[in-house]
Amino acid sequence: MDALVLGAGASGLCFALLAARRGLNVTVLEHGGDAARKLRASGGGRCNLTNLAAGPTDYFSDNPRFCASALARFTPRDALDLFGSLGLTFEEKAPGQMFCVQGAKRLSQALEAACASAGARIVLDCAISAVRGPGPFQAETSRGLFSAPCLVVATGGPSWPNLGATSLAFALARQFGLPVIDPRPALVPLVLGKAEAALCRDLAGLSVPRVRAACNRSGFEGGLVFTHRGLSGPAILEASCVWRPGHDLVLDFLPGQDLAALLAEQRASRAQVKTVLARLVPGRLAQALAGDLAQKPLDQLANKDLARLAARVHSFRVTPTGHEGLAKAEVTAGGVDTRALSSKTLESRDVPGLYFVGECLDVTGRLGGFNLQWAWASAAAAAAAVPAAD
Ligand SMILES: Cc1cc2nc3c(=O)[nH]c(=O)nc-3n(C[C@H](O)[C@H](O)[C@H](O)COP(=O)(O)OP(=O)(O)OC[C@H]3O[C@@H](n4cnc5c(N)ncnc54)[C@H](O)[C@@H]3O)c2cc1C
Repeated sequence: MDALVLGAGASGLCFALLAARRGLNVTVLEHGGDAARKLRASGGGRCNLTNLAAGPTDYFSDNPRFCASALARFTPRDALDLFGSLGLTFEEKAPGQMFCVQGAKRLSQALEAACASAGARIVLDCAISAVRGPGPFQAETSRGLFSAPCLVVATGGPSWPNLGATSLAFALARQFGLPVIDPRPALVPLVLGKAEAALCRDLAGLSVPRVRAACNRSGFEGGLVFTHRGLSGPAILEASCVWRPGHDLVLDFLPGQDLAALLAEQRASRAQVKTVLARLVPGRLAQALAGDLAQKPLDQLANKDLARLAARVHSFRVTPTGHEGLAKAEVTAGGVDTRALSSKTLESRDVPGLYFVGECLDVTGRLGGFNLQWAWASAAAAAAAVPAAD
Protein backbone atom coordinates (compact mmCIF):
# COMPACT_ATOMS: atom_id res chain seq x y z
CA MET A 1 0.00 0.00 0.00
CA ASP A 2 1.24 3.55 -0.78
CA ALA A 3 -1.02 5.66 1.43
CA LEU A 4 -3.33 5.05 4.35
CA VAL A 5 -6.08 7.67 4.71
CA LEU A 6 -7.96 8.22 7.97
CA GLY A 7 -11.51 9.51 7.35
CA ALA A 8 -13.76 8.97 4.32
CA GLY A 9 -15.19 12.47 4.22
CA ALA A 10 -14.85 15.19 1.60
CA SER A 11 -11.08 15.55 1.76
CA GLY A 12 -10.28 11.87 2.39
CA LEU A 13 -12.31 10.68 -0.58
CA CYS A 14 -11.01 13.43 -2.85
CA PHE A 15 -7.45 12.50 -1.89
CA ALA A 16 -8.16 8.80 -2.47
CA LEU A 17 -9.66 9.43 -5.91
CA LEU A 18 -6.87 11.68 -7.17
CA ALA A 19 -4.05 9.56 -5.70
CA ALA A 20 -5.58 6.31 -7.02
CA ARG A 21 -5.89 7.90 -10.47
CA ARG A 22 -2.14 8.51 -10.27
CA GLY A 23 -1.78 4.77 -9.85
CA LEU A 24 -1.20 4.78 -6.10
CA ASN A 25 -2.50 1.99 -3.89
CA VAL A 26 -4.74 3.77 -1.35
CA THR A 27 -6.88 2.51 1.56
CA VAL A 28 -9.30 4.77 3.46
CA LEU A 29 -10.34 3.88 7.02
CA GLU A 30 -13.71 5.25 8.18
CA HIS A 31 -15.25 4.61 11.59
CA GLY A 32 -18.82 5.27 10.39
CA GLY A 33 -21.11 2.81 8.64
CA ASP A 34 -21.39 5.31 5.75
CA ALA A 35 -18.79 7.49 4.11
CA ALA A 36 -19.05 11.28 3.90
CA ARG A 37 -21.93 11.90 6.30
CA LYS A 38 -21.12 15.61 6.69
CA LEU A 39 -20.81 16.00 2.93
CA ARG A 40 -24.25 14.40 2.52
CA ALA A 41 -25.72 16.96 4.93
CA SER A 42 -23.91 19.89 3.37
CA GLY A 43 -25.83 22.87 2.06
CA GLY A 44 -29.00 21.52 3.67
CA GLY A 45 -28.63 18.36 1.52
CA ARG A 46 -27.95 20.37 -1.63
CA CYS A 47 -24.19 20.71 -1.25
CA ASN A 48 -22.68 24.10 -1.88
CA LEU A 49 -19.56 22.38 -3.19
CA THR A 50 -17.47 25.42 -4.07
CA ASN A 51 -17.41 29.17 -4.48
CA LEU A 52 -16.17 30.64 -7.75
CA ALA A 53 -14.54 33.54 -5.90
CA ALA A 54 -12.59 31.40 -3.41
CA GLY A 55 -9.22 32.89 -2.55
CA PRO A 56 -6.96 33.13 0.51
CA THR A 57 -8.81 36.16 1.92
CA ASP A 58 -11.97 34.04 2.31
CA TYR A 59 -10.29 31.96 5.01
CA PHE A 60 -9.52 32.56 8.70
CA SER A 61 -6.21 31.19 9.96
CA ASP A 62 -3.28 32.16 12.19
CA ASN A 63 -1.18 31.64 9.06
CA PRO A 64 -3.34 33.38 6.45
CA ARG A 65 -1.21 32.80 3.31
CA PHE A 66 -0.83 29.06 3.90
CA CYS A 67 -3.93 28.09 1.91
CA ALA A 68 -2.95 30.19 -1.15
CA SER A 69 -0.79 27.58 -2.86
CA ALA A 70 -3.29 24.70 -2.70
CA LEU A 71 -6.20 26.99 -3.67
CA ALA A 72 -4.28 28.28 -6.68
CA ARG A 73 -3.42 24.79 -7.89
CA PHE A 74 -6.91 23.29 -7.47
CA THR A 75 -9.38 26.04 -8.27
CA PRO A 76 -13.19 26.13 -8.01
CA ARG A 77 -13.26 25.43 -11.78
CA ASP A 78 -11.14 22.33 -11.19
CA ALA A 79 -13.66 21.18 -8.56
CA LEU A 80 -16.54 21.70 -11.00
CA ASP A 81 -14.62 19.88 -13.75
CA LEU A 82 -13.87 16.96 -11.42
CA PHE A 83 -17.48 16.55 -10.26
CA GLY A 84 -18.80 17.37 -13.73
CA SER A 85 -16.75 14.44 -15.05
CA LEU A 86 -18.66 12.25 -12.56
CA GLY A 87 -21.94 13.19 -14.27
CA LEU A 88 -23.04 15.96 -11.91
CA THR A 89 -24.34 19.39 -12.85
CA PHE A 90 -24.33 22.67 -10.93
CA GLU A 91 -26.26 25.86 -10.37
CA GLU A 92 -25.14 29.20 -8.98
CA LYS A 93 -27.76 30.02 -6.36
CA ALA A 94 -26.12 33.19 -5.05
CA PRO A 95 -23.13 35.00 -6.59
CA GLY A 96 -20.26 32.48 -6.68
CA GLN A 97 -22.05 29.81 -4.63
CA MET A 98 -22.16 26.61 -6.72
CA PHE A 99 -24.62 23.90 -5.66
CA CYS A 100 -24.96 20.36 -6.99
CA VAL A 101 -28.25 20.05 -8.90
CA GLN A 102 -28.49 16.33 -8.05
CA GLY A 103 -27.95 17.03 -4.33
CA ALA A 104 -25.34 16.22 -1.70
CA LYS A 105 -26.17 12.52 -1.42
CA ARG A 106 -25.68 11.91 -5.15
CA LEU A 107 -22.43 13.88 -5.09
CA SER A 108 -21.12 11.76 -2.20
CA GLN A 109 -22.18 8.54 -3.92
CA ALA A 110 -20.54 9.63 -7.18
CA LEU A 111 -17.30 10.40 -5.32
CA GLU A 112 -17.33 7.02 -3.56
CA ALA A 113 -18.06 5.19 -6.82
CA ALA A 114 -15.24 7.05 -8.57
CA CYS A 115 -12.86 6.06 -5.76
CA ALA A 116 -13.84 2.42 -6.20
CA SER A 117 -13.40 2.47 -9.95
CA ALA A 118 -10.01 4.14 -9.58
CA GLY A 119 -8.99 1.26 -7.30
CA ALA A 120 -9.09 2.98 -3.89
CA ARG A 121 -10.38 0.82 -1.07
CA ILE A 122 -12.76 2.24 1.56
CA VAL A 123 -13.06 0.28 4.82
CA LEU A 124 -16.22 1.27 6.75
CA ASP A 125 -17.10 0.52 10.41
CA CYS A 126 -13.40 0.67 11.14
CA ALA A 127 -12.69 1.91 14.67
CA ILE A 128 -9.12 3.17 15.00
CA SER A 129 -7.58 2.37 18.38
CA ALA A 130 -3.93 3.36 17.87
CA VAL A 131 -1.66 4.84 15.24
CA ARG A 132 2.09 4.32 15.18
CA GLY A 133 4.90 5.43 12.90
CA PRO A 134 6.58 6.61 10.81
CA GLY A 135 8.51 3.94 8.99
CA PRO A 136 5.91 2.65 8.24
CA PHE A 137 2.72 4.17 9.71
CA GLN A 138 0.48 1.55 11.26
CA ALA A 139 -3.17 1.82 12.31
CA GLU A 140 -4.55 -0.67 14.78
CA THR A 141 -8.26 -1.01 14.11
CA SER A 142 -11.35 -3.12 14.72
CA ARG A 143 -10.74 -4.43 11.18
CA GLY A 144 -7.14 -5.39 11.74
CA LEU A 145 -3.74 -3.77 11.27
CA PHE A 146 -3.14 -1.45 8.29
CA SER A 147 0.31 -0.29 7.31
CA ALA A 148 1.69 2.18 4.75
CA PRO A 149 4.69 4.49 4.30
CA CYS A 150 2.37 7.56 4.13
CA LEU A 151 -0.47 8.52 6.46
CA VAL A 152 -3.06 11.11 5.39
CA VAL A 153 -5.16 12.41 8.28
CA ALA A 154 -8.53 13.56 6.88
CA THR A 155 -10.82 13.11 9.89
CA GLY A 156 -12.13 16.71 9.84
CA GLY A 157 -13.04 18.76 12.89
CA PRO A 158 -15.26 17.87 15.86
CA SER A 159 -18.25 20.04 14.92
CA TRP A 160 -21.56 18.20 14.41
CA PRO A 161 -20.53 15.10 16.40
CA ASN A 162 -23.83 13.40 15.50
CA LEU A 163 -22.42 13.05 11.95
CA GLY A 164 -19.41 11.11 13.19
CA ALA A 165 -17.05 14.01 13.82
CA THR A 166 -14.21 13.50 16.31
CA SER A 167 -11.00 15.20 17.43
CA LEU A 168 -8.77 12.33 16.27
CA ALA A 169 -6.77 14.63 13.95
CA PHE A 170 -5.79 16.88 16.86
CA ALA A 171 -4.81 13.90 19.05
CA LEU A 172 -2.63 12.53 16.23
CA ALA A 173 -1.06 15.92 15.56
CA ARG A 174 -0.07 16.19 19.23
CA GLN A 175 1.12 12.57 19.27
CA PHE A 176 3.49 13.36 16.38
CA GLY A 177 4.63 16.66 17.90
CA LEU A 178 2.67 19.11 15.72
CA PRO A 179 1.10 22.09 17.53
CA VAL A 180 -2.68 22.50 17.52
CA ILE A 181 -4.28 25.95 17.60
CA ASP A 182 -7.08 26.01 20.15
CA PRO A 183 -10.04 24.44 18.27
CA ARG A 184 -13.33 26.33 18.63
CA PRO A 185 -16.81 26.23 17.09
CA ALA A 186 -17.22 28.55 14.09
CA LEU A 187 -20.00 29.45 11.67
CA VAL A 188 -22.12 29.09 14.79
CA PRO A 189 -25.04 31.12 16.24
CA LEU A 190 -24.07 33.46 19.10
CA VAL A 191 -25.84 33.59 22.48
CA LEU A 192 -26.66 36.90 24.17
CA GLY A 193 -26.73 37.54 27.91
CA LYS A 194 -29.34 38.78 30.38
CA ALA A 195 -28.86 42.41 29.34
CA GLU A 196 -30.22 41.55 25.88
CA ALA A 197 -32.87 39.02 27.00
CA ALA A 198 -35.73 41.44 26.25
CA LEU A 199 -34.41 41.95 22.73
CA CYS A 200 -34.34 38.18 22.09
CA ARG A 201 -37.81 37.76 23.58
CA ASP A 202 -39.33 40.56 21.48
CA LEU A 203 -37.58 39.77 18.22
CA ALA A 204 -37.15 35.96 18.25
CA GLY A 205 -37.83 34.55 14.79
CA LEU A 206 -37.39 37.89 13.04
CA SER A 207 -35.05 37.89 10.09
CA VAL A 208 -33.36 41.00 8.71
CA PRO A 209 -32.24 40.62 5.07
CA ARG A 210 -29.07 42.70 5.29
CA VAL A 211 -26.96 43.90 8.21
CA ARG A 212 -23.27 44.46 8.80
CA ALA A 213 -21.86 42.75 11.86
CA ALA A 214 -18.50 44.15 12.95
CA CYS A 215 -16.23 42.33 15.38
CA ASN A 216 -12.51 42.39 16.06
CA ARG A 217 -11.79 44.87 13.23
CA SER A 218 -13.62 42.68 10.66
CA GLY A 219 -17.06 43.29 9.16
CA PHE A 220 -19.51 40.78 7.66
CA GLU A 221 -22.56 41.67 5.57
CA GLY A 222 -25.56 39.43 5.11
CA GLY A 223 -28.78 38.31 6.73
CA LEU A 224 -29.39 38.22 10.48
CA VAL A 225 -31.92 36.16 12.42
CA PHE A 226 -32.93 36.85 16.02
CA THR A 227 -33.26 33.59 18.00
CA HIS A 228 -34.65 32.93 21.49
CA ARG A 229 -31.10 32.83 22.81
CA GLY A 230 -29.31 35.32 20.60
CA LEU A 231 -28.35 35.89 16.97
CA SER A 232 -27.91 33.75 13.88
CA GLY A 233 -27.99 34.19 10.08
CA PRO A 234 -25.09 34.45 7.61
CA ALA A 235 -23.58 37.74 8.89
CA ILE A 236 -23.52 36.42 12.47
CA LEU A 237 -22.23 32.96 11.51
CA GLU A 238 -19.31 34.58 9.70
CA ALA A 239 -18.69 37.01 12.57
CA SER A 240 -18.53 33.99 14.91
CA CYS A 241 -15.28 33.02 13.17
CA VAL A 242 -13.53 36.09 14.62
CA TRP A 243 -15.56 36.59 17.81
CA ARG A 244 -13.87 35.74 21.11
CA PRO A 245 -15.40 35.73 24.63
CA GLY A 246 -15.63 39.25 26.03
CA HIS A 247 -15.76 40.91 22.62
CA ASP A 248 -18.67 43.04 21.45
CA LEU A 249 -20.50 42.81 18.16
CA VAL A 250 -21.55 46.07 16.53
CA LEU A 251 -24.56 45.76 14.23
CA ASP A 252 -25.39 48.18 11.44
CA PHE A 253 -29.01 47.58 10.44
CA LEU A 254 -28.78 49.92 7.43
CA PRO A 255 -25.33 49.23 5.96
CA GLY A 256 -24.35 51.62 3.23
CA GLN A 257 -27.14 54.08 4.10
CA ASP A 258 -27.12 57.22 6.23
CA LEU A 259 -30.15 57.27 8.53
CA ALA A 260 -29.47 60.80 9.81
CA ALA A 261 -29.47 62.12 6.24
CA LEU A 262 -32.59 60.11 5.31
CA LEU A 263 -34.49 61.47 8.31
CA ALA A 264 -33.21 65.02 7.77
CA GLU A 265 -34.95 64.98 4.37
CA GLN A 266 -38.25 64.21 6.13
CA ARG A 267 -37.71 66.58 9.08
CA ALA A 268 -41.14 68.24 8.60
CA SER A 269 -43.04 64.93 8.69
CA ARG A 270 -45.52 64.34 11.50
CA ALA A 271 -45.23 60.58 11.18
CA GLN A 272 -44.01 58.74 14.26
CA VAL A 273 -40.38 57.69 14.37
CA LYS A 274 -41.26 53.96 14.45
CA THR A 275 -43.44 54.37 11.33
CA VAL A 276 -40.71 56.12 9.37
CA LEU A 277 -38.11 53.59 10.52
CA ALA A 278 -40.41 50.69 9.61
CA ARG A 279 -40.10 51.77 5.95
CA LEU A 280 -36.40 50.90 6.21
CA VAL A 281 -36.23 47.85 8.52
CA PRO A 282 -38.80 45.24 9.64
CA GLY A 283 -41.54 46.76 11.89
CA ARG A 284 -40.68 44.86 15.09
CA LEU A 285 -37.05 45.83 14.74
CA ALA A 286 -38.04 49.46 14.04
CA GLN A 287 -40.00 49.51 17.31
CA ALA A 288 -37.10 48.00 19.27
CA LEU A 289 -34.51 50.35 17.77
CA ALA A 290 -36.65 53.46 18.25
CA GLY A 291 -37.17 52.59 21.96
CA ASP A 292 -38.30 55.65 23.94
CA LEU A 293 -38.45 57.70 20.70
CA ALA A 294 -40.87 55.31 18.95
CA GLN A 295 -44.06 57.39 19.39
CA LYS A 296 -42.49 60.79 18.79
CA PRO A 297 -43.46 62.62 15.58
CA LEU A 298 -40.42 63.23 13.44
CA ASP A 299 -40.94 67.00 13.36
CA GLN A 300 -40.60 67.10 17.18
CA LEU A 301 -37.40 65.14 17.33
CA ALA A 302 -34.46 67.11 18.78
CA ASN A 303 -31.19 66.94 16.87
CA LYS A 304 -29.52 65.06 19.71
CA ASP A 305 -32.33 62.45 19.59
CA LEU A 306 -31.89 62.13 15.84
CA ALA A 307 -28.18 61.44 16.39
CA ARG A 308 -29.02 58.94 19.17
CA LEU A 309 -31.42 57.09 16.86
CA ALA A 310 -28.90 57.01 14.00
CA ALA A 311 -26.25 55.65 16.38
CA ARG A 312 -28.61 52.86 17.53
CA VAL A 313 -29.44 51.87 13.98
CA HIS A 314 -25.89 52.03 12.61
CA SER A 315 -23.91 50.95 15.72
CA PHE A 316 -26.10 48.68 17.82
CA ARG A 317 -23.72 47.09 20.29
CA VAL A 318 -24.38 43.66 21.79
CA THR A 319 -22.15 41.52 23.99
CA PRO A 320 -22.49 37.81 23.22
CA THR A 321 -21.89 35.61 26.25
CA GLY A 322 -21.12 32.50 24.20
CA HIS A 323 -22.08 30.43 21.18
CA GLU A 324 -24.34 27.46 20.53
CA GLY A 325 -21.40 25.04 20.70
CA LEU A 326 -19.94 22.35 18.46
CA ALA A 327 -23.33 20.66 18.02
CA LYS A 328 -24.54 23.65 15.97
CA ALA A 329 -21.25 24.83 14.48
CA GLU A 330 -20.92 24.23 10.75
CA VAL A 331 -17.14 24.01 11.14
CA THR A 332 -14.34 23.95 13.70
CA ALA A 333 -11.93 26.88 13.56
CA GLY A 334 -8.36 26.52 14.79
CA GLY A 335 -6.84 23.05 14.48
CA VAL A 336 -3.52 21.65 13.31
CA ASP A 337 -1.05 24.54 13.09
CA THR A 338 -0.27 24.97 9.40
CA ARG A 339 3.22 26.33 10.20
CA ALA A 340 4.18 22.72 10.88
CA LEU A 341 3.28 21.69 7.30
CA SER A 342 4.45 22.40 3.78
CA SER A 343 1.86 24.58 2.02
CA LYS A 344 2.68 22.85 -1.29
CA THR A 345 2.27 19.24 -0.17
CA LEU A 346 0.46 19.39 3.22
CA GLU A 347 3.18 17.09 4.57
CA SER A 348 4.55 17.58 8.06
CA ARG A 349 7.89 19.42 8.01
CA ASP A 350 9.29 17.17 10.75
CA VAL A 351 7.53 13.83 10.26
CA PRO A 352 8.12 12.57 6.70
CA GLY A 353 5.11 10.80 5.19
CA LEU A 354 2.56 12.39 7.56
CA TYR A 355 -0.06 14.59 5.83
CA PHE A 356 -3.06 16.53 7.18
CA VAL A 357 -5.86 17.71 4.84
CA GLY A 358 -9.29 19.37 5.12
CA GLU A 359 -11.03 20.93 8.05
CA CYS A 360 -8.71 19.53 10.73
CA LEU A 361 -6.22 22.22 9.69
CA ASP A 362 -6.26 25.77 11.02
CA VAL A 363 -7.94 26.97 7.79
CA THR A 364 -11.60 27.95 8.14
CA GLY A 365 -13.64 29.24 5.24
CA ARG A 366 -16.45 31.76 5.16
CA LEU A 367 -19.98 30.62 4.48
CA GLY A 368 -20.81 29.76 0.87
CA GLY A 369 -18.84 26.77 -0.41
CA PHE A 370 -15.40 27.84 0.83
CA ASN A 371 -14.91 24.99 3.32
CA LEU A 372 -15.55 22.26 0.78
CA GLN A 373 -13.30 24.06 -1.70
CA TRP A 374 -10.54 23.87 0.94
CA ALA A 375 -11.28 20.16 1.48
CA TRP A 376 -10.89 19.50 -2.28
CA ALA A 377 -7.87 21.79 -2.77
CA SER A 378 -5.88 20.54 0.24
CA ALA A 379 -6.63 16.93 -0.72
CA ALA A 380 -5.51 17.58 -4.31
CA ALA A 381 -2.22 19.11 -3.13
CA ALA A 382 -1.45 16.07 -0.97
CA ALA A 383 -2.60 13.63 -3.66
CA ALA A 384 -0.18 15.17 -6.15
CA ALA A 385 2.69 14.92 -3.66
CA VAL A 386 2.41 11.52 -1.99
CA PRO A 387 5.07 9.26 -3.55
CA ALA A 388 4.49 5.71 -4.73
CA ALA A 389 6.10 3.17 -2.43
CA ASP A 390 9.31 1.61 -3.80
C1 LIG B 1 -24.56 20.62 8.43
C2 LIG B 1 -23.35 21.08 7.65
C3 LIG B 1 -23.51 21.66 6.41
C4 LIG B 1 -22.39 22.08 5.68
N1 LIG B 1 -22.57 22.63 4.46
C5 LIG B 1 -21.50 23.05 3.74
C6 LIG B 1 -21.64 23.56 2.42
O1 LIG B 1 -22.73 23.55 1.84
N2 LIG B 1 -20.52 24.01 1.78
C7 LIG B 1 -19.29 23.97 2.37
O2 LIG B 1 -18.31 24.41 1.76
N3 LIG B 1 -19.11 23.45 3.59
C8 LIG B 1 -20.18 22.98 4.28
N4 LIG B 1 -20.00 22.42 5.52
C9 LIG B 1 -18.62 22.21 6.01
C10 LIG B 1 -18.00 21.01 5.28
O3 LIG B 1 -18.94 19.95 5.26
C11 LIG B 1 -16.72 20.55 5.96
O4 LIG B 1 -15.84 21.64 6.12
C12 LIG B 1 -16.04 19.44 5.15
O5 LIG B 1 -16.87 18.31 5.07
C13 LIG B 1 -14.72 19.08 5.78
O6 LIG B 1 -14.17 17.99 5.06
P1 LIG B 1 -13.17 16.98 5.79
O7 LIG B 1 -12.88 15.93 4.82
O8 LIG B 1 -12.06 17.74 6.41
O9 LIG B 1 -14.02 16.40 7.00
P2 LIG B 1 -15.35 15.53 6.96
O10 LIG B 1 -16.07 15.73 5.68
O11 LIG B 1 -16.04 15.84 8.23
O12 LIG B 1 -14.84 14.03 6.97
C14 LIG B 1 -14.19 13.46 8.06
C15 LIG B 1 -14.42 11.96 8.03
O13 LIG B 1 -13.62 11.35 9.01
C16 LIG B 1 -14.41 10.44 9.74
N5 LIG B 1 -13.84 10.31 11.08
C17 LIG B 1 -13.86 11.23 12.07
N6 LIG B 1 -13.27 10.74 13.16
C18 LIG B 1 -12.85 9.49 12.86
C19 LIG B 1 -12.19 8.48 13.61
N7 LIG B 1 -11.85 8.68 14.88
N8 LIG B 1 -11.91 7.31 12.99
C20 LIG B 1 -12.26 7.11 11.68
N9 LIG B 1 -12.91 8.02 10.94
C21 LIG B 1 -13.21 9.21 11.52
C22 LIG B 1 -15.78 11.03 9.75
O14 LIG B 1 -16.78 10.08 10.03
C23 LIG B 1 -15.87 11.59 8.34
O15 LIG B 1 -16.32 10.64 7.42
C24 LIG B 1 -21.09 21.97 6.25
C25 LIG B 1 -20.95 21.38 7.51
C26 LIG B 1 -22.06 20.94 8.21
C27 LIG B 1 -21.87 20.30 9.56
